[in-house]
Amino acid sequence: MNQFDVVIVGTGHGGAQAAIALRQNGFAGTIGMIGRDREPPYERPPLSKEYLAGDKPFERLLIRPEAFWGEKAITLILGQSVTKIDPEAKEVILGSGDRIGYGRLIWAAGGDARRLSCPGGHLDGVHAVRDKRDVDALLADLADGAQHFVVIGGGYIGLEAAAVLRKLGRKVTLVEAQDRVLNRVAGEELSRFYQDEHTRQGIELRLGVGVERLTGATRVESVVLANGEAIACDGVVVGIGIVPAVGPLIAAGAAGANGVDVSELCHTSLPHIYAIGDCAAHANVWADGAVIRLESVQNAHDMATTAAKAICGEKQPYAAFPWFWSNQYDLKLQTAGLSMGHDQAVLRGDPASRSFSVLYMKDGRVIAVDAVNSTRCYVQGRKLIEARVEVDPADLANPDVVLKDLR
Ligand code: ADP
Repeated sequence: MNQFDVVIVGTGHGGAQAAIALRQNGFAGTIGMIGRDREPPYERPPLSKEYLAGDKPFERLLIRPEAFWGEKAITLILGQSVTKIDPEAKEVILGSGDRIGYGRLIWAAGGDARRLSCPGGHLDGVHAVRDKRDVDALLADLADGAQHFVVIGGGYIGLEAAAVLRKLGRKVTLVEAQDRVLNRVAGEELSRFYQDEHTRQGIELRLGVGVERLTGATRVESVVLANGEAIACDGVVVGIGIVPAVGPLIAAGAAGANGVDVSELCHTSLPHIYAIGDCAAHANVWADGAVIRLESVQNAHDMATTAAKAICGEKQPYAAFPWFWSNQYDLKLQTAGLSMGHDQAVLRGDPASRSFSVLYMKDGRVIAVDAVNSTRCYVQGRKLIEARVEVDPADLANPDVVLKDLR
């Protein structure tokens, strides 16, 4: 049986950074990293952007050159999933049946793309956008000449994929069950802007309507909506969120209802087991201590550093500042802070100019900013959030007032 001082499960941003941070902090023990993906750790955000568009080859997605892992004595165990954890024996059990012993375990398994539960959800030509294999299958359909796509879900994944498919000249219909896109993560102003933009680019939107079923013999041929509309298509892209990949942890007795609960040091309720990234429910200081999961590279990366430092004896509670970005067409959206629970949204600049921002306030303070093609607003808005000072919304809305002067 293999045995490592630290076993990391997951080779995404969190897993990779955990291994890197352990070595950076002088950890001299053995490290084993287990991943379902067959490739060494690679960046995920380009999957729905430059990689899908064919603008970036896979080699440029690698988080570190392949040789790095060996040089740092980090053993990669690829193409393998952990199906069970035995916390008493301090072992993980792989799908192959192999057991791997750990001193400490860092669970960085992220989430699985949520699948459509309606009939036809598993037909050929129905694609998730979560890992390289998903996107390679979609690229193969594109290469085969698939013309009309239905994108299901108007979150960032769906919108980014829709923008790329459109740029590639395909016909795209986007279906969102709620009455606006980005409903989970952004305010109405931003949703409206992106809806207008996608419409202008030629995407057909269907908002506020669910998917009833997908039809086709083996390959998808149409998407039938709850209102009876049938949309003929050659392929479907599903971007309806993730299901946190915590099954083995919860089965082993870890606490967690939405993902797995972790402490401010990213420790689970089970001894010697940490969890980080998309699957880790934590009290976030930038959300007034609300227990949330964050699905972002920033969160995966910074939680990884927290856990690695804790293992090295440096107990630094997780308090990293949240940020995120999304590229669609020529629009670069940068978000800072967390807008959940805001009581006011202030528009700064004119959306028609394609450079503007929305500042989210709570109790008189700025808690988040969404900046479209406006890095200055993003940077200065972020400083305002960090300063936690009370501001007048009229000043935020006035482009003649410099945001950094409000601190
Ligand atoms: P992602 O990271 O995949 O973009 P989000 O949760 O941010 O995930 O967004 C997913 C979007 O998909 C949400 O806006 C949600 O309302 C929408 N959605 C979820 N289920 C369905 C469905 N069955 N049909 C259409 N839209 C859906």
